[in-house]
Amino acid sequence: MTVTLAQEKDTRRLDVGALVPEGTHLVGGEWVPAESGEVIEVINPATKELLSTVARGAAADVDAAVDAAAAALRAWRDTSPTVRGQLLYKWAEVCRAHEQEIDLLERLEVGRPSWGPSGIPGILTYVAGLADKITGQTLPTSMPNMLGLTLREPYGVVGSIIPWNTPGPLTIADVAPAIAAGNTIVVKPAEDAPLTPLLLGKLALEAGIPPGVVNVVTGYGPEAGAALPAHPGVRRMSFTGSPETGSKVMEACAKNLIPLHVELGGKSPQVVLRDAPLDRAIPTIVRAITFNTGQVCAAGSRLVVDATIHDQVVEALAGAFEKVTVGPWYEKVDMGPLISAKQEARVLGYLDAGRKEGAKVVTGGHKLSGEKFDPGFFVEPTIFDAVTPQMRIAQEEIFGPVLSVLTYDDEQEALAIANGTRYGLVSSIWTTDVGRAVRLARGIEAGQVGINTTWSRGVIGAPHGGYKHSGFGRTMSADSILDYTQLKSVVIDGNV
Ligand code: ADP
Repeated sequence: MTVTLAQEKDTRRLDVGALVPEGTHLVGGEWVPAESGEVIEVINPATKELLSTVARGAAADVDAAVDAAAAALRAWRDTSPTVRGQLLYKWAEVCRAHEQEIDLLERLEVGRPSWGPSGIPGILTYVAGLADKITGQTLPTSMPNMLGLTLREPYGVVGSIIPWNTPGPLTIADVAPAIAAGNTIVVKPAEDAPLTPLLLGKLALEAGIPPGVVNVVTGYGPEAGAALPAHPGVRRMSFTGSPETGSKVMEACAKNLIPLHVELGGKSPQVVLRDAPLDRAIPTIVRAITFNTGQVCAAGSRLVVDATIHDQVVEALAGAFEKVTVGPWYEKVDMGPLISAKQEARVLGYLDAGRKEGAKVVTGGHKLSGEKFDPGFFVEPTIFDAVTPQMRIAQEEIFGPVLSVLTYDDEQEALAIANGTRYGLVSSIWTTDVGRAVRLARGIEAGQVGINTTWSRGVIGAPHGGYKHSGFGRTMSADSILDYTQLKSVVIDGNV
């Protein structure tokens, strides 16, 4: 199926069917339909036009994929880690060569504007270098003529369930360390954005990663998703998504007695102190909540600001929000649409809830309308002022471009507000006072703290993950590859 919305811009056209065969998913290196023969339609959220279809996988398809992953396991596990690393480097190269297609496909299914060069080859390169550096230890012994050592071995077949917001990088963040460590994997992408993970699976094959090492089963959460952590052949899971679904996946893992890593939502605070470098803070705060239309777990959705600079900061933010450009994927804009009707209803519901609870709309607050916006799920970037810590818009993850402004009078109160939600994913502290920066960085309950910046910007291999209901386990770092290994201790008695 060719997407031909207009002829004037190349970026508006992409032969989706040539990249990812229609109506199928990737099992054991083959493009196969779902056992049921049913498909899921994937739409472009900027226009609601049909992009393509993928298989509507369910338990039988997960079974087939786990079988394929199990069949590929022994040879892959026994492949030299140097060779596994080389294949990951090759995958990085192939992804770099297809950067345009990966980027455009993700933009089409998620509805986002271009963000420039993709981070995917970088993540793959980073992980590739770790493949042959997974080591155990030698252990002290209580008797002579003995050796004790540990081996780090793969789990076997592992599963990964990912959401729709950044499907490309999230696929790689799980798949790369899993297979580098010698596991084989079954990925279940989100039903709203399954095409990029399928393309990445195809490029893995092109890079020479053997069939069955990376399998991508598409389908709905309660069908294909639920079957994966419940499958007796799956030895470890990772899940990225909402806390509610994460809890269900964790229950399934508990029944199956397998470990899991979960990366859930956030309600990340931007704490702005009286001496904050506002010139730098304002554009970063705007970006942190409008990036991907606020549909990122790390979205900086709460502004926690010193009462003495509140008016100045809110005025500057309002001016900057009004300059945020919104449009479809082919325009050079800051923000695209929301992903789906469901997501739009959710965000609009929170806009209503904020008003009803007495928060004040400073800017935005509505669905966007007009010729360009009517076909898609576009909403205005919105600032709510006069938000109190107990309001729903201060507590719940909206997953949209909505910033809630809360004020504080002293450092203790700032910390109490920042820590006063169920979440603890990302946080930023804006101040030029090093003492306050250190105290708040130590006091904040979050997996990531940025001082005068957003999380992990400019840092390679910063562990990413949550405190509290934002989850547990860390991705993206050198250590995270170890999470895909289990420890075996070996004792050798030399007294023979
Ligand atoms: P959203 O509500 O935004 O779709 P979810 O957390 O429900 O967020 O979805 C994240 C991923 O979890 C998706 O791939 C989805 O298909 C999957 N999923 C949804 N429900 C279940 C479930 N019951 N078991 C396993 N996976 C699920």
